[in-house]
Amino acid sequence: MDSKAAVRERFHEVRDQIIDLGRRIHANPELGFQEWLASRWLCDTLSGAGLEVETGVCGLPTAFVARVGSGPLQVAICAEYDSLPGIGHACGHNLVAAIAVGAAIAAARVADDLGVKLSVIGTPAEEVGDKAGKILLLERGAFDGVHAAMMVHPAPVDLVEPAMIASSAFEVDFVGKEAHACGFPELGVNAADAITIAQTAIGLLRQHIRLSDRIHGIVTCGGQAPNIVPAHTRAKYMVRATTVRDLDEIRIKVLRCFEAGALATGAKLEIIGGHEPYAEMLHDHEIAALYRRNAESLGRSFPQFPGMDRAAASTDMGNVSLMVPAIHPMIGIDSLPAINHQPEFAAHCVTPAADKAVVDGSLAMAWTLIDMAREGALRQRLLSAGREAA
Ligand SMILES: [Zn+2]
Ligand SMILES: [Zn+2]
Repeated sequence: MDSKAAVRERFHEVRDQIIDLGRRIHANPELGFQEWLASRWLCDTLSGAGLEVETGVCGLPTAFVARVGSGPLQVAICAEYDSLPGIGHACGHNLVAAIAVGAAIAAARVADDLGVKLSVIGTPAEEVGDKAGKILLLERGAFDGVHAAMMVHPAPVDLVEPAMIASSAFEVDFVGKEAHACGFPELGVNAADAITIAQTAIGLLRQHIRLSDRIHGIVTCGGQAPNIVPAHTRAKYMVRATTVRDLDEIRIKVLRCFEAGALATGAKLEIIGGHEPYAEMLHDHEIAALYRRNAESLGRSFPQFPGMDRAAASTDMGNVSLMVPAIHPMIGIDSLPAINHQPEFAAHCVTPAADKAVVDGSLAMAWTLIDMAREGALRQRLLSAGREAA
């Protein structure tokens, strides 16, 4: 039996277990760095299939690494499993996790024959926006020695190289002074006015930004009562641009808008975080082409719509991709008009189409691993790039 058939056979032995795993994670959404159940279930499934599991890696309690196989080529499959506040698994990370585990368990059967040391890296907290799981894991060495990294993420339709741009998330804190809003307003310093001025300035700034730039945020504390001059307000903002370099420029301009709010009102401004941005995703075209071919052989297609090259989102996988050749294809779950980060999309992440995505995503990624390990020139490129980096 050839390797791809062996992998398919192994996957089908665990198929129902993997689909159930994704559904269980979906039913128990957990926020970033609090993915206790998901992390435990993923580790139990991997160790039950014979992989060697290390939990709580790099000082992150819900991160893990599972290893199998031996050989010079080290390939990592990334699993995400955090959810979104209030709307559960509306980004479908339950499927990212199930696909990662399904692919690894299936590919484990041929890893030794291929000369591949395969790992599943459990990467918590993709959705947090700042100091995300993969960024901390990269800094702390979890990807050291890895020659290539892969993951598959759900989306309305299949995309092989989705545009993923750089992003910085930070918190804004204004401190003014309380006063009776009617009796002695002249004694107050209005921290809510500071946010209003900042948001007005950002609104005007939008005329002067690149088409691909994005600025969006929410006010998380707008004051305590209408008859108290607000002395303490907070907001969370995100700024995005095509690359980390472009991000620096636009971020400085946005920060000036918050400074304007402080200057005009006399409130004190503090910016918290935002120094560890998500980088743009660099897709390894050769590995991406292998994934596409394998997904197409399973009957998937990669439709092209006008405007599809517009930036879709950001991911901490971008930071991995700047260090290690990587892919981040999207697998379609037939959810349109529902899109990621809508509750309707969360509902689509437990449907027969989502189950099919788990099967196809697992097989396409495991088969891509086989092709990567076999294609002489690609294998050589990955191995020698790793040596240069070491
Ligand atoms: Zn998301
Ligand atoms: Zn996501």
